[in-house]
Amino acid sequence: MKETGIVYSEQHRSHKTGRHHPESRRRLRVIMDTLRKQHLFSREEYRFITPKTAQLEDLQLVHSRDHIELVKQVCNSGGGLLDLGDTIASKGTFTAAAYAVGSALSAVDEVVTGRLRNAFALTRPPGHHAGSDYAMGFCIFNNVSIAASYLATKGFQRILILDIDAHHGNGTQDIFYNSSEVLYVSLHEDPREFPGVGFDDEVGRGEGLGFTVNVPFPLGTGDSAYLKAMREIVAPITREFTPQFILLSAGFDGYFLDPVGRLNLSHQVFSLIFQEMLDLASEICEDRLVAVLEGGYYTRRLGQLVLSTILPMAGKSLPASVHSHPVDSETEKRAEKVVERVKKAQSEFWDTLDA
Ligand SMILES: [Zn+2]
Repeated sequence: MKETGIVYSEQHRSHKTGRHHPESRRRLRVIMDTLRKQHLFSREEYRFITPKTAQLEDLQLVHSRDHIELVKQVCNSGGGLLDLGDTIASKGTFTAAAYAVGSALSAVDEVVTGRLRNAFALTRPPGHHAGSDYAMGFCIFNNVSIAASYLATKGFQRILILDIDAHHGNGTQDIFYNSSEVLYVSLHEDPREFPGVGFDDEVGRGEGLGFTVNVPFPLGTGDSAYLKAMREIVAPITREFTPQFILLSAGFDGYFLDPVGRLNLSHQVFSLIFQEMLDLASEICEDRLVAVLEGGYYTRRLGQLVLSTILPMAGKSLPASVHSHPVDSETEKRAEKVVERVKKAQSEFWDTLDA
């Protein structure tokens, strides 16, 4: 049995955002502490990998020279803000961000060559809000998009990115909006507040028409609508698309206690979503799946949340006794209607959704 890779670099520590910023160094510390306490380091099902840094040519698979230079300059001058919000760069951010990209690429490399069954890249800063020439929403370089573009250079022609972060991955959507090689599917909270795009009528353009699938849920949506979307949209579209590689933008800020996300998801839903994608990867693409960490800011629980996705990656059963969190039934009804609406709209592109 091949191992599951866990890719982690201490270099993320040089990305300093300050103690009160939600996207802090504490996030990866609590994840690593949890994995350590579970003795994952010594279990034969897992292999820990220290990544290399990304090279300029890797960043340029997705990002403009100007964007890369700007990030470098801000860091060299001691740090500062990279957008109008709270995307902070410190002196060491360029190094950390290049290692975050390197982590995603190392994970992909190990899976492509068959040395690993699948892998989770524990990265920060996160990536999915970063576009080809902008940083945004705590994201500097788009880790998962660079991984997808890298796969395309290796001859992969059908790559699925499923984004389960609470927020829409506007950067990723932007980068692949005209592409039929990368199918971008995102389940997320109402994007009106942030990032302002990710509505269900955004479905791709040109060659990419039909290769963007957005499922924007009302604030407060809980497990059952998410699982319905997995069952009735994500799984059938994935089977029809038959990806050669599955990438997960794995954000955990949909958890009901998260201070940034505004969904109502319980602990169990993250492992159930992973389990579904692992099953699809096994059925369709010889298990080739890499998860890349995005958001997730409730640090008292983040380690456990990540653990409950890493266990099924190695074929381990889920921790028992995780209950679903109660949701408002009105919200759930509205959320289920969104699923129906998206199915109808996307049936223009996917035969499997034809009612
Ligand atoms: Zn998020």
